[in-house]
Amino acid sequence: MAERYPFAITPEMAALVEGGAESDPIARQFLPQDAEFELSPGESADPIGDRRLSPVKGIVHRYPDRVLLKPTLTCPVYCRFCFRREDVGRKSGTLSTAELEVALDYIRNDPAIWEVIVTGGDPFVLSPRRIGAIIAALDAIPHLGSIRFHTRVPVVAPARVGAALVKALAAEKAVHVVIHANHPRELTEAARAACLRLVRAGIPLHAQSVLLKGVNDDAATLEALYRRLVAMRVRPYYLHHPDLASGTAHFRTGIAAGQSLMRALRGRVSGLCQPTYVLDVPGGFGKVPVGPSYLQADGAGWHVSDPEGRLHAYPPAAPPDGKSVPATLPGEAEKV
Ligand code: SF4
Repeated sequence: MAERYPFAITPEMAALVEGGAESDPIARQFLPQDAEFELSPGESADPIGDRRLSPVKGIVHRYPDRVLLKPTLTCPVYCRFCFRREDVGRKSGTLSTAELEVALDYIRNDPAIWEVIVTGGDPFVLSPRRIGAIIAALDAIPHLGSIRFHTRVPVVAPARVGAALVKALAAEKAVHVVIHANHPRELTEAARAACLRLVRAGIPLHAQSVLLKGVNDDAATLEALYRRLVAMRVRPYYLHHPDLASGTAHFRTGIAAGQSLMRALRGRVSGLCQPTYVLDVPGGFGKVPVGPSYLQADGAGWHVSDPEGRLHAYPPAAPPDGKSVPATLPGEAEKV
């Protein structure tokens, strides 16, 4: 299995494992399973079209105003559901100094690029010196407004977020860090402390998660995950519907199940704890929110669903006395 897909787990994550990959949400994310050999309809080695959209090594250019910069394809852990699982863990994926310069030149030469998302692999496995050099090069490009890092390190290897790494992230431009966490047990005290070191350096933190069957596909787990993130000063950003990566069907719920979880969250937790549920359109056509939708067009107006699923007319019908009342009164509610 490790020859087909790389395997790695950090001591911090191994210490959290309490069972097998079939039953334990931490083990399930990192320990290989036989189901990974099963290819399901629609799955692909490049589910969101990174290769087609790569003009030079290490760059993916999907949207006009932003690019991915992938200086390395190494990670501290290898997630079994990763949409880049065919590429990560390959030594040839780390850019040489010359290759990195070509990638940076690509960014320098396109003034429409406003944001660079440094990802991989996991860019925080690079030395602080290398990260600092990348930041310095990006900081010097006048048309960039935002530099964003996507990383699993603060959660799975928090000790790596030391003073040298935090210092390396200093820049004139806005630097944002998006951490990846899927289950509240991953958010250990050490992970909290690592995030705090970044926050205290003035770096806004966001979180992305993947909706994973057997890991976080229930409202109580998502609620606990998002409450813990917000309490750690990390803003939930995206909940990704899993991509159609080869051998990952055992991780996928249906989109209707994901929408139902998002609807449950809307009624249970603060707006700060609500990520956007998104799907990457297969083939590389971009990321879109996939609901649930709370609005239905109705003639010249709308029907809006409240968090309990009750439908209300918007704007409310005016009663004969001119005072506005809810179109659907409690007790008369129509569930949707
Ligand atoms: S850390 Fe990110 S890039 Fe690396 S295997 Fe996990 S999901 Fe993929």
